[in-house]
Amino acid sequence: MTWQPVIGLEIHVQLATQSKIFSGADNEYGGLPNDKACAIDLGLPGVLPVLNENAVIMAIKFGLAIGAEINNISIFDRKNYFYPDLPKGYQISQFETPIVGNGEIEFDGAKGKTKVRITRAHLEEDAGKSTHDLFESDTAIDLNRTGTPLLEIVSEPDLYSAEDAAIYFKTIQELVKYLKICDGNLSKGSMRCDANVSVRRTEDVELGERTEIKNINSFRFVEQAINSEIQRQIDSLESGEKIIRETRLYDENKNETRSMRSKEASQDYRYFPDPDLLPLHVSDALIEKIKSELPELPADKKLRFTTELLLDDYDAGILCKEIDLATYFEEVVVQCNEAKLAANWIISDLLAKLHRDNLSIKDCLITPYMLAQIILKINDQTLSSKTAKTLFDSLWANPGEPDDRIQELGLQQIDDSNELSIIVEKVLLENPEQLKQLKSGKTKVLGYFVGLIMKETKGKANPTKVNELIHASLD
Ligand code: ADP
Ligand code: MG
Repeated sequence: MTWQPVIGLEIHVQLATQSKIFSGADNEYGGLPNDKACAIDLGLPGVLPVLNENAVIMAIKFGLAIGAEINNISIFDRKNYFYPDLPKGYQISQFETPIVGNGEIEFDGAKGKTKVRITRAHLEEDAGKSTHDLFESDTAIDLNRTGTPLLEIVSEPDLYSAEDAAIYFKTIQELVKYLKICDGNLSKGSMRCDANVSVRRTEDVELGERTEIKNINSFRFVEQAINSEIQRQIDSLESGEKIIRETRLYDENKNETRSMRSKEASQDYRYFPDPDLLPLHVSDALIEKIKSELPELPADKKLRFTTELLLDDYDAGILCKEIDLATYFEEVVVQCNEAKLAANWIISDLLAKLHRDNLSIKDCLITPYMLAQIILKINDQTLSSKTAKTLFDSLWANPGEPDDRIQELGLQQIDDSNELSIIVEKVLLENPEQLKQLKSGKTKVLGYFVGLIMKETKGKANPTKVNELIHASLD
């Protein structure tokens, strides 16, 4: 029997505002436990929440970027539940009327172009953090995270493999980083996701019963957790059991999910509009203003790189994955006007080194100016591809003015015919056997001689001149 997995994700994105969503406390990761939560975050009696305008603007940015409806009026509700890291006893969220409505995201999935419908994206506050393994028999509560603005992005059940679910999650990460509304850092908890998973027989139309895996915080774990849950469900169904709607936790050490609690229905939360917060009104004028200020989105940028700068799809895809990388590339191109060469250098040389040293493009000490100079010096034949690499390595280790470094390291190409012909003659005479072959018309040995001359000159001989000189000496 064949089974089809069906997956819908709920992604929580911490918005990169200066202060919390309903208070003026710093919205900053880390620091001493409980040092950053103010009276409003703690929900002390008598305090009132005040909505952070920037959180609203960031949510609208996201909505516009996925072509979603932005609701002119949205409502903040109280979602009531008890947990030690939620001192108010309720979380302020949006229930029936979220700020962002239906939208859509397209990406290159494992099996080609894939579309996922977005049901909604709503604003809410994050809860505190419980740590269960810090003390032997107690749980540690840190309320610094309380009140961090979250955008929860809910997808339709449109994903059909764990791999595509991970790619979709990554696509959202790229997008929120482009929009600069979140740093996208999964290890700091800036993004987390809940995966809803069900399976159905391939011939079935109706969806199967689902479970929800909570709080997954890495791309690898998304894939592993979903795959292990798919397998568990298939095994259960094939042995005649039923799937129970429940919340599960992924244990990465055992690579399995385990039951956490039965799934609460929305009525369990006693949602009702928060009487402390008025309905949120967003004018069309504000929406238009935000729209006009949106940056170029990854898909549009990629299209422009392939059509205007004539990059191939693969190169454009890599460069557009990260906005800072795309910007770096564009700065190099502005200064050397060689898109293809710039792309090659960035993808094969720069990214390899950044990767090796675990650095991001922002940490890169080779500036776009330096890389553009390297490319220009190859074009005007000051450098060969080999000496260009030497210069690149030298600048990587110790950044500086490329021109000076070329002088210091003596990397200029040898163009001088007199100087070169001495070397050419010497090499030809040292290899009488190959010289005879060359004279008898075996052009293959030409490469052999060019190689020797390059070695002799540490890659600095002008290859065109070398070829000319060898031919001349044969006449
Ligand atoms: P809840 O209110 O319980 O959170 P929702 O209807 O809002 O449930 O759905 C939550 C998530 O579950 C959505 O991302 C949705 O796509 C997904 N989902 C719903 N039904 C299924 C299903 N049968 N299989 C997989 N995912 C599902
Ligand atoms: Mg839910």
